[in-house]
Amino acid sequence: SLRNELSNLDRKHVLHPSTNPKNQVDHGPKIIFTGGDGIYLNDIDGNTYIDGVSMLWNVNLGHGNKELAEASYKQMVEAAYTTTFYGYVNEATVRLAEKITSLTPGDLNTVFFTSGGSESNDTAFKLSRFYWQLRGYKEKKKIISLRRGYHGVTVAAQRATGIDAYRNFSGSTDPDIVNAKPHLTECELGDKNHPEYEGCIRDIIEKEGADKIAAVIVEPIQGAGGVHVPPEEYLQAVRKLCDENNIHLIADEVICGFGRTGKMFGVDHWEIVPDFMSVAKGITSGYAQLGGVVMTEKIRDEFAQYDAMLAHGFTYSGHPTACAVGLKNIEIIERDGLVERANTMGRELDKGLKYLEDKYTFFTNRRSRGLLAGFDLMKDPEANIPFDHSARAAGNLVDECYNRKLLIRPFDFEPGMNIVAIAPPLTISKNEVEKIIHIVDDSLTAFSKKI
Ligand code: PLP
Repeated sequence: SLRNELSNLDRKHVLHPSTNPKNQVDHGPKIIFTGGDGIYLNDIDGNTYIDGVSMLWNVNLGHGNKELAEASYKQMVEAAYTTTFYGYVNEATVRLAEKITSLTPGDLNTVFFTSGGSESNDTAFKLSRFYWQLRGYKEKKKIISLRRGYHGVTVAAQRATGIDAYRNFSGSTDPDIVNAKPHLTECELGDKNHPEYEGCIRDIIEKEGADKIAAVIVEPIQGAGGVHVPPEEYLQAVRKLCDENNIHLIADEVICGFGRTGKMFGVDHWEIVPDFMSVAKGITSGYAQLGGVVMTEKIRDEFAQYDAMLAHGFTYSGHPTACAVGLKNIEIIERDGLVERANTMGRELDKGLKYLEDKYTFFTNRRSRGLLAGFDLMKDPEANIPFDHSARAAGNLVDECYNRKLLIRPFDFEPGMNIVAIAPPLTISKNEVEKIIHIVDDSLTAFSKKI
């Protein structure tokens, strides 16, 4: 069969990202997708799944969107690819930059385009360091990032990532990146007696010296670290800390951007303006590979005086077809009110999760903003006792959901951590949210019988 043929070829010829290679080679691919529509995905065996995490939290418009396909086709037949090196440009790139910067807060008014999130973060690090160089600060190079932050897998983004498996993969290191120890706590507000002060961003700045630090990078809401919404004053405190110390703040909006959290950008929840903003994923809803770094006028003005070649850029920086898809994608998000929809459907999702939290004692700590949601599984939440790590609680629940044709994601990379994330396309209906909750409910019941 075609399934067997593709499976055998995959086992032999494809090395999969974020996958266990032995499993892959022994058992072949888990799903071979063939198509989709809205929140649904079809596979080669005739199954239909609900995509409960928008694949990698990026398919904001849902699957099978013909308008995006048409925008791509139209640009491809006209000028599929031209470069933006050497001062060349094309209409789609310019229009998209104008559109994005009309939506970003404050004076974030210039975009450097990339092909994805990792490239965007590496670019933000380099542009931040370059800015300080131009200003005469030769030593300002270090980047501070957070525990459980996820910023990608290129060498710099990898080292900024605060998840050990990714951070340490293949043993590469970059001494210019420091990972803060505490995780989204109020220690940044300045109380030196805070129990987690040691190793927090403020403490690192004091110890390393502000003259050695170029930037702090944070996700407004952490995604792959397990959907962590920061405490209310946190991002304002980090912004202030950066201002006081002449340090850039980079907001990694790769997941939060373009409506996912019920605002156009994650920082809009706390009304802060970063110096750089990394975007990718939802910028095209995954229909084309695109990312970008948006920077303030102050930073761009500094670069504008640099009278030599800016020696940074990707072959696909400002890819016309990807930009045309991005432009259409944002047009649809605005036209169809999808940011507001993420809010209203997010409230429905939260209602459903609250029902589950009330029903199951081991279901706890539900949190969400818009359609970015997560919850914990714990043996005894009252007494703060986690499930035994070997029991794979989150993985088990996600398997139960998978058996019922719902795709969601477990996060269990630290002992005692059993987090499950739900982040469906922003186009989801109330009825479809209820379907997801219903499947998770059945899966929790099955799970509770096993543990
Ligand atoms: N930053 C965040 C917050 C992400 O979630 C991701 C990917 O999941 C990245 C960066 C890396 O993006 P990419 O995989 O497009 O390189």
